[in-house]
Amino acid sequence: MDLTAALEVSPTGSRRRADSVVGALVGGRCVECSATAWPRRAVCHRCGSAEVAETTFAPVGELITYTTVHVPRPGLEAPYTLGQISLPDGPLVFGQVRGMSEEPALPLRVRLALSSDPAIPGPWYWFEPTGQGTPDPATT
Ligand SMILES: [Zn+2]
Repeated sequence: MDLTAALEVSPTGSRRRADSVVGALVGGRCVECSATAWPRRAVCHRCGSAEVAETTFAPVGELITYTTVHVPRPGLEAPYTLGQISLPDGPLVFGQVRGMSEEPALPLRVRLALSSDPAIPGPWYWFEPTGQGTPDPATT
């Protein structure tokens, strides 16, 4: 296994994480086994390949679980909701969920939102319900 290609990949903190034009997260897809990760990794977590291509994931996914946090943190007033979102062509991602009714039926279709101003305190990305309820597996 040749991992020298991984040495050419930019450090984790400087890899692109979103496409603000498309409004989607940008991560990695292993060329060898198709495993996905966000943020993109230099080496595939599944097979160890150093061939991981940058890919843009779908901006809509399914909220599969969530929790309400009652402890504030800088940029986030409590209570706020954190959830795990399954992207149809990507990995599970973790993020804040805004605008959700109490006790929603899961899975809940959500759309990615990106902050337009990085100077605003708080998360630079979050998810919001699309208002379309539970996704239809035939259309995702
Ligand atoms: Zn792989």
